[in-house]
Amino acid sequence: MITTADPGGDGPKIIYCNPALCKMTGYSQEYLIGKSPRILQGPLTDKAVLNKLRRCLRSGSDFQGSTLNYRRDGTPYFVEWNISPVRGASGKVEYFVSVQRDITARILAEQRQELLAQALNVTQDAVVIVDDRGRILFTNQAFQRVTGYSPEDAQALAMHAATTASPHPAFYRNLLRVMQGSRRLRVTFEGDGPAQDRPMHLEQVVTILKDKSGAGKHYVSVLKDISSFVERENLLSRQVRSDVLTGLLNRRGGSMKLRSVHRAAQRAGSAYAVILADIDNFKMINDRYGHDTGDVVLRQSAAVLIGTIGGEGAIARWGGEEFLFLLPDGSLAEAMGLAERVRMAIAAHDYPIAGRVTLSLGVGVWEGSETAHALVRRVDQALYRAKNEGRDRVVAAE
Ligand code: GH3
Ligand code: MG
Ligand code: MG
Repeated sequence: MITTADPGGDGPKIIYCNPALCKMTGYSQEYLIGKSPRILQGPLTDKAVLNKLRRCLRSGSDFQGSTLNYRRDGTPYFVEWNISPVRGASGKVEYFVSVQRDITARILAEQRQELLAQALNVTQDAVVIVDDRGRILFTNQAFQRVTGYSPEDAQALAMHAATTASPHPAFYRNLLRVMQGSRRLRVTFEGDGPAQDRPMHLEQVVTILKDKSGAGKHYVSVLKDISSFVERENLLSRQVRSDVLTGLLNRRGGSMKLRSVHRAAQRAGSAYAVILADIDNFKMINDRYGHDTGDVVLRQSAAVLIGTIGGEGAIARWGGEEFLFLLPDGSLAEAMGLAERVRMAIAAHDYPIAGRVTLSLGVGVWEGSETAHALVRRVDQALYRAKNEGRDRVVAAE
């Protein structure tokens, strides 16, 4: 659009506009010629921008700005425009040339992008978007809390993705592996970022975004802090494996431990020992002093057993008043020695109300070919013989 410079009277008048301006505004050339450019303004046109425009024109300098203008049909659009004065031979400003551009699409796209970023920022999960060269294009607000990396740190590590020898954080290593096609899209791992006050368990889901041409790819990684789930699961699985009364492993926990000790011995080609210990005449304690006193005997016996075995192996409450010891790498002589120490420790313990209590024990060592179940049966038979031979004694399995 070209206007007169005429500062007096009604202000500048339009003397030329090109077809693009007509298309943008909806006015015909004939209609616009002779009119004031103010015809394009409306209620939401920014007054401050217009004031700046007037100041520039008055001083004869260039103007650049953007605001909302209106088409002939009343619909608004964002315009960005530049105005330059054109001077005559005398140096006096005679015309203004105004180049206008409809930037509505760009503004709307920016607004939508802002909205999407806000939406990604309200989620508690860390979102990071990288391009097909591993460069980080976007991180949301939760990213720093979850990974321990500031957006700047993340940018820096991604910049040196190909060159640096220093290990990348796990979330980024996973992403790179997905990009190399060698990693599943969903993984769980322990976070290893800086400045994390507690170990964090994370679940990472990576989605591959192909652009329309199918050429360029982006990778969207969502990291979820699953620590509370993992902690609860650990607690539950501990509870499922432990005995409430004594705090020892329960039968289930003992069985699981037996299986893992058995497998480890198979792998290593080593031995392990099993001891079964059963309190003598325990039913009598219950009958004579009551069930609560019986419970105290069980609890204190468990404490004595733990104190005697120390760090050597694991103990489970295998039955009501029966305990299973697992001794990895134990020889029969060592296991017999330990069983005897356990027997003496129980016999020497002074129980409240019940007084003295004795223990019978069977001991066996795994013989390479038998199952764990067969070993426990042999040891149980040894325990049975200890009972038959008069109780308060240790018998080796045959
Ligand atoms: P033996 O010397 O032959 O082992 O005789 P025992 O009396 O110790 O063996 P028996 O198997 O006849 O009795 C075990 C008793 O242990 C029976 C059961 O009521 C009791 N018992 C099992 N679990 C508990 C428990 O949690 N608390 C208490 N107080 N008693 C229990
Ligand atoms: Mg008993
Ligand atoms: Mg028993």
